[in-house]
Amino acid sequence: MSRISIAGLGVSGSFLAYLLARKGFKVEGYDLARRYFKPCGDAMSVKELTRRVVKATGSELAQARRFSIKVEGEEIAYLDLKPSPWVMVDKGKLVGALREMAEAEGASLKYGKRELRTVTVDARGPFAGRAGEQVNAISILARTRWEPGEVSLDLTVSRRGTFWIFPHDEDGRVVNLGVGFDRYVKPGVLRQIALRYFTRKLGRFEELRSGVAPILIWSPVRLRNGPLLVGEASGLVGRLNGEGNRMALYSAAALADALARGYPDAEKVLEVYRERTMRFVNEVRTSLLLLDLVGRFPVPLIKEAMKAAPDGLWESWLRTELTLERLLSLLPEALRSTALSAFGRVPGQPRA
Ligand SMILES: Cc1cc2nc3c(=O)[nH]c(=O)nc-3n(C[C@H](O)[C@H](O)[C@H](O)COP(=O)(O)OP(=O)(O)OC[C@H]3O[C@@H](n4cnc5c(N)ncnc54)[C@H](O)[C@@H]3O)c2cc1C
Repeated sequence: MSRISIAGLGVSGSFLAYLLARKGFKVEGYDLARRYFKPCGDAMSVKELTRRVVKATGSELAQARRFSIKVEGEEIAYLDLKPSPWVMVDKGKLVGALREMAEAEGASLKYGKRELRTVTVDARGPFAGRAGEQVNAISILARTRWEPGEVSLDLTVSRRGTFWIFPHDEDGRVVNLGVGFDRYVKPGVLRQIALRYFTRKLGRFEELRSGVAPILIWSPVRLRNGPLLVGEASGLVGRLNGEGNRMALYSAAALADALARGYPDAEKVLEVYRERTMRFVNEVRTSLLLLDLVGRFPVPLIKEAMKAAPDGLWESWLRTELTLERLLSLLPEALRSTALSAFGRVPGQPRA
């Protein structure tokens, strides 16, 4: 029987363990902790696969329907979106249920301070990254009063970061507050920045839980063998918004298919895996390009471009449908030609 060992049983590793065990692989998995916890905004974009997984794990907390997009605190767009593009999830419950489902299919999962002798798949998320590739972000769960179903995203162009307020229940009593920048900030300083900002926005709130965790913003996308990488470990995470939950599930599904079709032919496995994840790789590259653009142009120009952006652009972004081509078609002409002359070509298309 084909044996697969997985290091890291978070979102991608636990789902992969389940899918492979179902396909008849002998799966061995390992994680540092039995109870999954990692600070996160807990938002998951709603797509066919994510909807199915959230339903199967019973992990939905709330739906995000209204979005206030701000630049440096000033609201520039307000969107009321139906159907809801994001669902807020209890990630501990989602991962816990996926682990149980994997074990029910015969996977052997172990926890604690030991390592696997051989690792076929590295699913350790941002902990698989190298020094210099990670930044950090803080998430605070807080009791307060908030408009149910509403999301606030405040983009700070000058400091290249985003402050978020996400609903964490359907009643507007618990919210997930957080911030991340494009560079490493000491956890204590990040916490001070967050507390100052959210106290100004919300007044007093009761902190229920908080934590800082790494996120791979400056890592290249790595889809390689020895070991195979999946989820955030492979660099599949949005560079502007730190979105990694959806890609963790989709890349796990892609890798399970690739292993089922190609194993033990490593080249074949990689070929299928790359083909199946191509659109996520392109999405990540677009977000990296946008992050780079924000740094190359004067802050006032970027702010003006954001303010001038049509609602369609923000909706595409929130629905994770913003391809580079769509972005360029929606940006004002002046910025489009500046962007094209700065980069010379649209990535993915041959140089002239
Ligand atoms: C503050 C913050 C907010 C975020 N908000 C969002 C959001 O709202 N929406 C979104 O989509 N994404 C968000 N993300 C990103 C998202 O959390 C990750 O991209 C996603 O969890 C990646 O899933 P994964 O399975 O690849 O890794 P993880 O879910 O991180 O799982 C990695 C697993 O590896 C285990 N591990 C670590 N080291 C070892 C080791 N040495 N041996 C064995 N196991 C190990 C860990 O215990 C963990 O269980 C956020 C990230 C941060 C830090």
